[in-house]
Amino acid sequence: MRLSLIPAAGLWLLLVITPIRAHEVRIPGGLGELSLARISDRVYVVHGMQALPDAGNKGFMSNSGIVLTDEGVVLVDSGGSAQVAQAIVARIRALTDKPVTAVFNTHVHGDHWLGNAAVRDAFPSVRIYAHERAIERLQGSEAQQWLDIFMRMTGGAVTGTKPVLPDHGLEGGETLQFPGATLRVHHTGHAHTDSDVMIEVAEERLLFAGDIIEHGRAVSSDVPQDFDIAGQIAAIEYALSLPVDTFVPGHGVTGAREIPEEALRFLRALHHSVKRYYDEGMQDYEMRDRVAADLSAFADWFGFDQLGRLISFVFQQIEAEDFR
Ligand SMILES: [Zn+2]
Ligand SMILES: [Zn+2]
Repeated sequence: MRLSLIPAAGLWLLLVITPIRAHEVRIPGGLGELSLARISDRVYVVHGMQALPDAGNKGFMSNSGIVLTDEGVVLVDSGGSAQVAQAIVARIRALTDKPVTAVFNTHVHGDHWLGNAAVRDAFPSVRIYAHERAIERLQGSEAQQWLDIFMRMTGGAVTGTKPVLPDHGLEGGETLQFPGATLRVHHTGHAHTDSDVMIEVAEERLLFAGDIIEHGRAVSSDVPQDFDIAGQIAAIEYALSLPVDTFVPGHGVTGAREIPEEALRFLRALHHSVKRYYDEGMQDYEMRDRVAADLSAFADWFGFDQLGRLISFVFQQIEAEDFR
């Protein structure tokens, strides 16, 4: 009896601790391929395309996380349009008959919250959480600006998308207890934006990192004016210090520590390279080719061709550090 229990226990342990392998996660090629990747019994991830919004993908470009609690579903990031969110809701309905009870928007960028309205249409009592700074910014002119950008880039393919803003403010440090799932909210200050939250699912030893971690994508290249490179490096280091084995980035594949570690290598190399040429007296526009050569290991990352814009923002931040 005892003998037969040992291999069973061993197998159980293996199942629990084996992390999802990033190379097994496929990034879809279109909205029609939107599917749920099963991470654990309770957690699923929709992996978005490595793309910018266009008429074909209708803003399907960021990852969404799904946590099945005993009473309902928690959705982390609602996607970049009503069309994307409707597809996610359809997949959730195929998985469970429980309602979506909470949505978390990890930050202010449109690809992470423009789907809110479609989720609320399907589940009217859903609570929508975000960092209070994200709510403040969206209550200004930014919500409409994001909708306008997505309408323009998709040639109107996201028509029907309405700006429904998060209405439950977070500041970081909260623990939200859902039946069967303990969610811890982390905010480390200005990083990818000034409004990022990372959501840790304690029982699953899993972190939804939002765009603090982007994999296979030249980090923050889409909206470089929002990010603080030193803050984002610190935020990834913080994420790596959490009791977590599985990391779900805002863009790119889910996996173990190699995912945040690679994102960190990119940012450190970028900072180091720009700083080096700054110290040699170069202007930002003069150093582009050299920085690109220093970062050649990441040349196949999406957005790498926009490195010039990223360099000028990093350059300004290094200049500001210098005069502090
Ligand atoms: Zn994003
Ligand atoms: Zn973002």
